[in-house]
Amino acid sequence: MTPKHILIVEDERPIREMIAFGLKRAGFEVREAEDSRSARSALADRRPDLMLVDWMLPDTSGLELTRSLKRERETRDLPIIMLTARAAEADKVAGLDGGADDYLTKPFSPRELLARVNALLRRASGQDEGEEVARGALLLDRAGHRVNSSGRPVVMGPTEYRLLEFFMLHPDRVYSREQLLDRVWGGNVYVEERTIDVHIRRLRKALEDFDCDQYIQTVRGAGYRFSVRVDA
Ligand code: CA
Repeated sequence: MTPKHILIVEDERPIREMIAFGLKRAGFEVREAEDSRSARSALADRRPDLMLVDWMLPDTSGLELTRSLKRERETRDLPIIMLTARAAEADKVAGLDGGADDYLTKPFSPRELLARVNALLRRASGQDEGEEVARGALLLDRAGHRVNSSGRPVVMGPTEYRLLEFFMLHPDRVYSREQLLDRVWGGNVYVEERTIDVHIRRLRKALEDFDCDQYIQTVRGAGYRFSVRVDA
């Protein structure tokens, strides 16, 4: 398994290095940014699996950065943990309202940070769903990499399986081709965006016999969505 990649945005160097050290030791790949601007350029360079964002940054605040990332289509589902010295409940609420997925008050122990990071990564990848996921007439067996419908196996290739698994774990949300490339193929691989259309077509074909092809919906000008609500 490729190591998960975490971007730390924190201006205080000793804290940043302490966090980076703990995460690297736990097997994560880590990049560091000292302000919102360098965080932006790090993001443009490569999408991390999770971001740690300090509230107080020298340029744009971490809260503002988080807000704008959660507004942008490319980054809105990027898991973000907000770090701050502010412990007040009102600030915590503001952090979560701003779109942060979790919140950690300084000082925190490396162990606590690690626990939060792992929990959020599990949540974000849908691993909390367990081994079997049912949506509409489809039953996904994640341990066996199999899909069943009405007791019969739905036969598909490994890429179509990964695509369907991603969709079933993230239903009712529109994903652009670029996001699907990132999430299903992994950001480092060079795959043309139209390749996705080919796999979508194959996936629909595999689902056709089970009347489930309409779950894979094209959203004009935006991308694709999995929904068992056909009128969605
Ligand atoms: Ca700071």
